[in-house]
Amino acid sequence: MKRVNSFQRFMNRRASANCRYQPTRYEHAANCYTHALLIVPAFVGMALLHRLSDNGWERITAWVYGMGLCALFLVSTVFHIITWKRSHMRSMEHCFHVCDRVVIYFFIAASYTPWLNLRELGPLAAHMRWFVWLMAAAGTIYVFNYHEKYKVVELAFYLMMGFFPASVMTSMSNTEGLQELACGGLIYCLGVFFFKSDGRIPFAHAIWHVFVALAAAVHYYAIWKYLYKARGADSLLQL
Ligand SMILES: [Zn+2]
Repeated sequence: MKRVNSFQRFMNRRASANCRYQPTRYEHAANCYTHALLIVPAFVGMALLHRLSDNGWERITAWVYGMGLCALFLVSTVFHIITWKRSHMRSMEHCFHVCDRVVIYFFIAASYTPWLNLRELGPLAAHMRWFVWLMAAAGTIYVFNYHEKYKVVELAFYLMMGFFPASVMTSMSNTEGLQELACGGLIYCLGVFFFKSDGRIPFAHAIWHVFVALAAAVHYYAIWKYLYKARGADSLLQL
């Protein structure tokens, strides 16, 4: 019994339908730190890809992907800090919660951008370059209108946005790095279990953050290795 009580210190009761879970102060701290620690590495990662770029198109792609990466960790950290210290910031908390959800759509689009921009695609598949951003915009409109109303629909949209652009990857002549891409996708999917486990597993949301960080790191590694570093080596060989 004593063990149950000490365990419950770290977790509150599960929220009722269409209500938000209220984390304990331990969970708040973990939610903030798990993404705050990744802000600087995300900026460094963006700068590195920028430096490895050989032309304007690669530079723009590095910038778009890097901004998606930085925005995800930055917005998430600010949102969790505001939620933690929310005494005078109710409207701001709502605003950042919306931003926290919107940024996920743009982050998914940004994560696909290097593959869609820097790999040769079939004529039909090439349309996915702009279609991912259309999907992100549609997701944003949905969040602004139905934020927190239909959580299952929201999750279905995230999964659709996450998987649908991958369908064009089969049209790539060069398939290097796609295993890492799939591996990152699998880590995101496993993390969804924790994303939906607030009030069931202590620190569930912080664990979800760790899965996001791991998956983003695997995707970054693949983009750095196969789309930037390898291209840089190719262009050096051609000199
Ligand atoms: Zn979060």
